[in-house]
Amino acid sequence: EGGVALVKAGALTTCTHLPYAPFQAKDDTGKVVGFDVALVDLVAKKLGVTQEIVDTPFEGIKSGSDLNAGKCDIAAAGMTITDERKQVLDFSDPYFDATQALAVLTGTTVKTLDELAGKRVGVQGGTTGEDYIKTQVAEKSLDIEVVSYKDLAAQQQALATKQVDAAVNDLPVWNEYIKNNPGKVEVAAGFDTGEQYGFAVKKGNAELLKAVNESLAAARTDGTYDQIYATWIGA
Ligand code: GLN
Repeated sequence: EGGVALVKAGALTTCTHLPYAPFQAKDDTGKVVGFDVALVDLVAKKLGVTQEIVDTPFEGIKSGSDLNAGKCDIAAAGMTITDERKQVLDFSDPYFDATQALAVLTGTTVKTLDELAGKRVGVQGGTTGEDYIKTQVAEKSLDIEVVSYKDLAAQQQALATKQVDAAVNDLPVWNEYIKNNPGKVEVAAGFDTGEQYGFAVKKGNAELLKAVNESLAAARTDGTYDQIYATWIGA
């Protein structure tokens, strides 16, 4: 696969923002694993190199600044393809469909945003979930205090310790949290935002983008995508 220029020889360097299980998070040994990691490993394999993961704030990923600065070749961060982000990044074909979900502590009766009047809702800074809630609050003049956290772990911790009454993030990360912490949290409502995740490369990096899309297409055809989905997302 000559022709694909990489920021570090012998490696496909990936920018991500940890933790975002089941897409990328450290396992018990400290190794970063997950759905995105497994798919990007296929790209690295195709290029004959090894994936190296760099943990960096989501802002630098979605703004394109990390890719533009040569910090990494590819961004893989459970990142939704949006028109705004398309201005500064080139996205792969979509590789995952997601919606937003409102999580509450188990036993909480709240089912809608309206019922959260006078309450606090936690979001993850810079994400589509934050945008969605802020837009809803503004459009419907909801009396909700939106509190932003720097990453998923901080947001989930805030919910678990009742610093917020509810929290909004992508549905699969709540499903993963519930799987790992049975009985603590439940999904009170879903918001069908129709999001799709894409891997991103630096604008104009057509060679790498082609390799990524070919790798995704091959994985969908030969069953590898389904295997990876079953491993990390479930049936
Ligand atoms: N899918 C959401 C977004 O793109 C959240 C991504 C994340 O937090 N890693 O904004």
